[in-house]
Formats: sequence, C-alpha cells, structure tokens
Amino acid sequence: MEILLTVISISLLGAALAAVVVLADLKLNDYGICAIDINDGQRVLSVKGGSTLLASLSSQDIFIPSACGGKATCGLCKINVLTNVGPVLPTEEPYLTEDEIGEGTRLACQLKVKNDLRVFIPEELFSIRRYRAKILKITDLTYDIKEFRFELLEPQAMEFAPGQYVQVDSKPYDGVEEVVSRAYSISSLPSEKGVLELIVRLVPGGVCSTFLHKHVKEGDELTLSGPFGDFYLREGADELLFIAGGSGLAPIKSMVLDILKKGLPKQMTFFFGAVRKRDLYYVDFFTELQEKYPNFRYIPALSDPGPDDDWNGEIGLITEVVARHVSDGQNKHAYLCGSPGMINACVDVLTKIGIDEERIFYDKF
Ligand SMILES: Cc1cc2nc3c(=O)[nH]c(=O)nc-3n(C[C@H](O)[C@H](O)[C@H](O)COP(=O)(O)OP(=O)(O)OC[C@H]3O[C@@H](n4cnc5c(N)ncnc54)[C@H](O)[C@@H]3O)c2cc1C
Repeated sequence: MEILLTVISISLLGAALAAVVVLADLKLNDYGICAIDINDGQRVLSVKGGSTLLASLSSQDIFIPSACGGKATCGLCKINVLTNVGPVLPTEEPYLTEDEIGEGTRLACQLKVKNDLRVFIPEELFSIRRYRAKILKITDLTYDIKEFRFELLEPQAMEFAPGQYVQVDSKPYDGVEEVVSRAYSISSLPSEKGVLELIVRLVPGGVCSTFLHKHVKEGDELTLSGPFGDFYLREGADELLFIAGGSGLAPIKSMVLDILKKGLPKQMTFFFGAVRKRDLYYVDFFTELQEKYPNFRYIPALSDPGPDDDWNGEIGLITEVVARHVSDGQNKHAYLCGSPGMINACVDVLTKIGIDEERIFYDKF
C-alpha cells in the first residue's frame, strides 16, 4: 500500500511539473497578435506571433520565394526588415552579404514574428498566388524523370515569364508526415493558358520528388504557388546559348519555345549534357525543332556513353562540348540550368570564351 501511494504521488508530481512546463512554454512563447506593416502602410497584416515571418506572410497569401521550404538551405526568402529584430542568426549568415546585413536583410524562414514589424516587399511578389491544380497527365521521360501536366483550377490561369518556377506543396504519404513546398521550373508556354507543365527528377529520399513520382496519379489535385524567380530572357543579344543537364531542361524548353513561337530574330544553340543515352529525353522533340527552324540548333552530348548506347553524337563533358562549338562571346547571352557543379564549370568556360558574367544567367538546382 505504501509503495502504491509513493508511486501515485510521484506520478502526480511528474504530471504537475509537466503541466507547469507546458504552461510556462505557452506563456513565454505567447507573443499575442503582431502587426506586420508592409511598404510603409501599403498593407498591414495582423498575425499570431510565434511563427516565422515566411509562414506568417504565406498565411495571408503573400508568397516569398523559398525553394527549400524553410530549411535555410536555399537562401531565397530574403526580405528587408526595417524594425530592429536583433542580430542575424548563424543559419542566415551564409546567405547574406555584409551590405545586406547592414540594410536589414533577413531570411524570412528563420525570423520569428515576436513583435510588430515593418518590412519591405518588392511589388512584383504581390502577384504571386496559390493555385489549386489537377494532374492531367504524367509521362515517364527517363528512368528517374517524369513530366507532369497540370490544369489550373482556381485561379484558372497564371501569368509568368518563360524560365520562372512554381512551388509545389507535398502532402503526407507513407509515414512521411512532413509537408514541404519545393521549386519546379515551368517547362510549358505562358500562352498555354490554364495548363502548366513541370519536369521532375526523383531525388532518392527526397520528400517532394518522391511524393510526385510515387504518390500521385492523374486526376489528383494539389496546390502550388507562383510564379517565382528572375531566370528569364533578357534583351541585348542576338545569339543565345542554352546549356542544361537533367531536369534543368525544363525552363530552357519554355524559353526556346517562347522565342520560336514569337518569331524573335535570335540565333539559338541548346547544349544538353547527359551521362548516358538513358539520361537523354525529348531528343525527337528538339531534333524536330532544329529541322523546322533554321535559327535553332540542338546539341545533345554524352559524357560517358556505354558500349550498348550506339551513340554517334557529341561525346565529352558539356563544358568541353561548349568550348568546341563556341569560339567567341560576341553578341551572346548564355542561360544555364542544372546542378551547381555543372553551372560553375560552365561559367568558367564561358567567361574564358569571352562572355562575361553579367551576360550569363542561371538557376542552380
Ligand atoms: C529555382 C529552382 C528550380 C528548380 N526546378 C526544378 C525542376 O524543374 N525539376 C526538378 O526536378 N527539380 C527542380 N528543383 C529542385 C527541387 O526544388 C527540389 O530541390 C528537388 O526536387 C528535391 O526536393 P525533395 O523534397 O525531393 O528532396 P529533399 O527532401 O529536399 O532532399 C532530400 C535529400 O536530397 C538532397 N537533395 C536535395 N535536392 C537535391 C538535388 N536536386 N539533387 C541531389 N540531391 C538533392 C538533400 O540534400 C537531402 O539530403 C529546382 C530548385 C530550384 C532552387
């Protein structure tokens, strides 16, 4: 009996302590309702304190670019905070220059809203919307890349510039409770009103790419937001070099098709780098474009063709292939999309050829 009473007393004491901790946590982290003043009173939001600035803004339909969905690994959600909110966090430091820190730039995914804030948000971000979209068609392009065609249900159309991307929201699946939002470049044309096409490579163990590859089917609905990004066509050059690897083909496809459709007087060369033949896709599509349009050239290249690949096209790293075909940088702009390693190597080669960095545009993923 004595033992039983001791056990009950200890349990009650434990429960009481836990309740105190929970209450203290609620009290300490209760920041009440905070006001976020955007662009000197242009909009003033009332939000419940305690969430990140990124989440607080998106809860009120203001979408800041954030390709990693709040993990502080992409550095895209920079925002100017005009209120003093203390020093930058170690997680923010790698993404901010000294000038940016001096101007009050912060990563919205790392900053918690604990007080009233004044922030500056560029006007163009206000046109970003969240969309409900239905998957019309899923097509296997390679063993690890799929094409997704979406119908936009609500709103029914998106204005975007070829090269821009959307952020797709995943849903819980198969024991993965984490819901993330990831960037995918739009591969279709803005003129295809109401339809959006994305090209997604399966990243082993990746939350969103696994969701899209293995846990959705035609007819399913999901949400996405956009358009985001500053990777789009610039004025000022008659010759355009496009270089891509893997799913980096997506924004390039949209850009090339847009130029051809509008009949712009641009000379274009598209270099696509792959390891083996099984990594190539849309070969017939781009070959047909090349046959139809004299101002478009398509150069697929394999870095390590296998014995069964029966390949008589270009061989070598894409940087070597580019160097073989481009002799000078005159009147040229270059648009690159692919892995950081591929892009860094290409920028090196292109600057040596004579295209300076201001004329090289890229999205790294
Ligand atoms: C501007 C922009 C545009 C993009 N456009 C496209 C696109 O059109 N098509 C496309 O397929 N992807 C694109 N991405 C990449 C995409 O946003 C995701 O990062 C990718 O799908 C992985 O997300 P996940 O949730 O599946 O993996 P996560 O759960 O984020 O990552 C799981 C693991 O994989 C690693 N990892 C994350 N990303 C990659 C990667 N790309 N390669 C190798 N390992 C990785 C992580 O370090 C982690 O260890 C784009 C990214 C950016 C920034």
